[in-house]
Amino acid sequence: DLLATVAALNEDQGVHGILVQLPLPDRIDAARVLGAIDPAKDVDGFHPLNVGRLFSASGRIPSDLLLPCTPKGCMILLEEALGDLGGRHAVVVGRSNIVGKPLAALLLAANCTVTIAHSRSRDLSGLCRGAEILVAAVGRPELVRGDWIGHGATVLDVGINRVAGEDGKSKLVGDVAFAEAQGRAGAITPVPGGVGPMTVACLLDNTLIAARARHRRQG
Ligand code: NAD
Repeated sequence: DLLATVAALNEDQGVHGILVQLPLPDRIDAARVLGAIDPAKDVDGFHPLNVGRLFSASGRIPSDLLLPCTPKGCMILLEEALGDLGGRHAVVVGRSNIVGKPLAALLLAANCTVTIAHSRSRDLSGLCRGAEILVAAVGRPELVRGDWIGHGATVLDVGINRVAGEDGKSKLVGDVAFAEAQGRAGAITPVPGGVGPMTVACLLDNTLIAARARHRRQG
């Protein structure tokens, strides 16, 4: 049924962008579904063709390339805060296809020196401390402590974790212990806020890119 829905949306001339909300139930092959999306409508940037174009880009990323939304939003924030990223040491904690891997590719294209850390990395705190740009995309509440952050580092907190608050109600926290980190970081994104709204904005930007490209193709 899902493949039939994707096929119908691919054909529908009134639709410019398709997003399959992940994660899918285990019984559904997510790679097969993502691969069935028309790459020109792939506003999440997860189709293998768009992933391949990102990872094989040399120099500038083509402006019509549909990039994964969260990493795209992270790059906009970083370039606005720091300007040219060339030569900076970026540490990305997390290696998912949705955030960690595509963000590492974008940072590399922006001439950063990139370290990707993950659940099997040794001395995670030491790796983080060496970062000028630190991105936490793990999904573990407040894993990154204040003293893991180098003085003046720019920190992007991608994590969204729901935890129990002191008042008995649940609240959202990131992957970084924000209060501790504020004393060390030069700049840091809050959770909620920060990276999340950028993801939404980039989804709309991708939809506009896809629509413009369709209209150009149709003359
Ligand atoms: P994922 O579960 O697919 O990947 C998590 C990654 O973290 C894995 O690569 C794993 O190796 C690594 N990891 C797990 N435990 C670790 C540990 N103890 N030390 C070091 N690395 C560890 O998650 P994802 O889809 O990349 O999402 C990560 C977080 O970002 C989640 O909290 C998710 O909700 C959030 N997220 C936010 C946005 C946004 O718009 N802000 C978008 C996507 C995901």
